[in-house]
Amino acid sequence: MVVSSFLFWRRIKPMATQETKSMLIRDDEKNSCAGMLHYIAFTPTDRTKRAAIMWTGCWIAAGIAVFIPLAHFFLVPAFLIAGPILFFQRSKQKDAKEKVTGTCPRCHQEIEIKLEATDQLPKWVYCPKCDGSLDLNDDETQNLIDKVI
Ligand SMILES: [Zn+2]
Repeated sequence: MVVSSFLFWRRIKPMATQETKSMLIRDDEKNSCAGMLHYIAFTPTDRTKRAAIMWTGCWIAAGIAVFIPLAHFFLVPAFLIAGPILFFQRSKQKDAKEKVTGTCPRCHQEIEIKLEATDQLPKWVYCPKCDGSLDLNDDETQNLIDKVI
């Protein structure tokens, strides 16, 4: 039983790939340094599996919430509605951003900035070493900005 459930989870476990992409870290005075974006890329199959797991999890939580007195009046409908909404959100998520590493253009120290999985670039953040404001741009965004300006 344990072996068969392990094999089942291994088969449906998303097989995402860890990838990196070059990017620019700029300060508010337009000085820039090269950085590296670390993210997990999902194939369409991975996205569907992750979304299905999320929907299933929500509906299992709804089933468990049925037995909680009073709270079940709002928890059960909330989980039942959240399941398909989170399914569609997850199925559209092509990657999960993890962190940006590189050199700060203000203090010239090596920095590592954690990102939320759903963060979109360009994004303004603060340097963890000098607290200066930094603009994180991926190359595609930077090329568009260069064309417009
Ligand atoms: Zn800095």
